[in-house]
Amino acid sequence: MNILVLNCGSSSVRFQIISTDLEKISGNTDRRLARGHIERIGGEAIITLETEGRAKQRTSAQVRDTRAAVEFIVRWACSEEAQVDGVKTVADVNAVGHRVVHGGERFTHSVLITDEVLRGIEDCIELAPLHNPTNIKGIQAAREVFGAGLPQVAVFDTAFHQTLPDYAYLYALPYQLYRRYRVRRYGFHGTSHRYVAYRYRQLRGIPREQTNIITLHMGNGCSAAAIRGGDSVDTSMGLTPLEGLVMGTRSGDIDPAIIDFVAAKEGLSAQAVETMLNKQSGLLGISGLTNDMRELLAEAEENDDRRARLAIEIFCYRARKYIGSYLAAMGGADAIVFTGGIGENSAEVRALVCKELEWFGLEIDEERNREHTNGREGLITRDGSRLAAYVIPTDEELLIARDTVRCVLGAPQRY
Ligand code: ADP
Repeated sequence: MNILVLNCGSSSVRFQIISTDLEKISGNTDRRLARGHIERIGGEAIITLETEGRAKQRTSAQVRDTRAAVEFIVRWACSEEAQVDGVKTVADVNAVGHRVVHGGERFTHSVLITDEVLRGIEDCIELAPLHNPTNIKGIQAAREVFGAGLPQVAVFDTAFHQTLPDYAYLYALPYQLYRRYRVRRYGFHGTSHRYVAYRYRQLRGIPREQTNIITLHMGNGCSAAAIRGGDSVDTSMGLTPLEGLVMGTRSGDIDPAIIDFVAAKEGLSAQAVETMLNKQSGLLGISGLTNDMRELLAEAEENDDRRARLAIEIFCYRARKYIGSYLAAMGGADAIVFTGGIGENSAEVRALVCKELEWFGLEIDEERNREHTNGREGLITRDGSRLAAYVIPTDEELLIARDTVRCVLGAPQRY
């Protein structure tokens, strides 16, 4: 089957076309036929397109909204010029898989989208006001472009973390806030944590039940997950993706009293302070320079910039504290897995995160660590290290395509 995977953000749409079916899943022979990215939707959009085996092309075009973006993608994919293998007309796309950010407590797995499911996703809008509406727009756009008959599947960022026990997902707040409004930890990046946990057990040749690891997704957004017996048992993001690790522009954990304090001092509303925590904090806020880790590392190295160094140090220190607390919470782990743009590419950040973890038996192999960048997957600790560390590039799109196939065929889902 040819699956169109869509990840619709507020001003961008990422897509892949993946050829997969149950046989290809078990043989790990899924094929990525095409991929691309439309940014700055709403005006003159910047478009990146790539067909399997051919060079990436960049172009620009007026793209009004999410629907126009989906139309653009489908038109391109079916065109002579794109030469996507096996895709000549709209009918050659067999299903669409969507990344949906928030599934609340209702969606514990991926689902075939019906009107009722769509209403359920709408009900979660209050939990993710920035994300779920654009995900819904993507679903509606695909319905209009392909017709209501084409199966569409929703894959939720929150679903993998629905196995958290109540003592891990509840905040120490008046219990009625949970009863009335479902205020609790949901966690995000679930598809990424799930994918690297799956790849880890493939690399190790072990069953799901023996998967005891801590996964660190470090990209623009960052989160950690404690995975015991294959299930997510704790994670650092909370009701929203603001909690936990230090991120590109998000603060992660802070004392909640800071919000009121800063609001009073700066004459801001609580909402304006929350925007500050989401958009002007994290690496950007500390360094005063950029939210981009690569640039910060260069600044620290070339200009010995004190605040760039401090931002990197706080980022790594926070990640290390989460590893320590999860090791205690889950009674030890076999490995730490790094993923996301920073986790996959920066040997320096990985080494800093792991610096004080020798006590737990983690021995970084400097050469292996240095060699694992640019999508290279594998072990970065010494042979015999009691706590291992791996780099595993994430692939959320692949899991979305596979979940889509399983939902369409009514096959059992694998988490
Ligand atoms: P998103 O969360 O938006 O998908 P990515 O996973 O692509 O983002 O991660 C983006 C982050 O990864 C940026 O901070 C970028 O600087 C960082 N990054 C990418 N390559 C490197 C590298 N070689 N060294 C350090 N950081 C890197």
